[in-house]
Amino acid sequence: MADSSQHKNVKAEELAKDLKRKGIRDERVLAAIAKIPREQFVDKSMAEYAYLDRPLPIEEGQTISQPYTVAFQTELLQLKPGEKVLEIGTGSGYQAAVLCEMEAEVYSIERYQELYLLAKERLRRLGYTPQLFFGDGYEGLPGLAPFDKILITAAPEEIPEKLKEQLRIGGWMVLPLGGRQGQKMTVVKRTGEDRYSRTTHGDFIFVPMQEGTQ
Ligand code: SAH
Repeated sequence: MADSSQHKNVKAEELAKDLKRKGIRDERVLAAIAKIPREQFVDKSMAEYAYLDRPLPIEEGQTISQPYTVAFQTELLQLKPGEKVLEIGTGSGYQAAVLCEMEAEVYSIERYQELYLLAKERLRRLGYTPQLFFGDGYEGLPGLAPFDKILITAAPEEIPEKLKEQLRIGGWMVLPLGGRQGQKMTVVKRTGEDRYSRTTHGDFIFVPMQEGTQ
């Protein structure tokens, strides 16, 4: 993809190796992380920390998730090329870039207009072409459903009902579920018209998923 694949990104490759050491196994996820210029997704003043396995602050009091968390969530998605995936919480756009590198058909919603606009410009500049939306992720994108996979990158206290209904049968949603004290990484699989199963995958801390737009 445009800028990101034409030049070797040694720091990003080191970051991918670090994540592999920490247990990330999906080679396609690691290859995506090894390519993406993460420093482009944070403020210039944070650039020196961009390839550390750490979350970093972005505008509007939000965060770009820790690379390990991005990789862990993406691994749980088990994305196949061409799958239709909806991300809730575009934030910096970094996770959306990872999904694009994995050749998914990417849709992403952000509730802060400022973040939506910044991510849109940044992703375009880097040559990524997800479809971005400014809106409330709790609503999803009913007109574009069903989705093969849904990825929530902010923490809701309950599984968002409307998003469950926008999964195709056989598809699944990856989300950090819980309140401000911490969340369980959860996979909700739609197994039938009105049937869902749930598994959990360890403890994480995300910013809360909030209703409405700003
Ligand atoms: N995926 C992002 C992580 C950003 S942090 C990245 O790669 O940088 C989570 C983001 O979710 C924040 O930008 C926050 O504003 C957004 N968010 C929280 N609640 C939301 C909602 N209801 N709809 C859409 N976005 C939401």
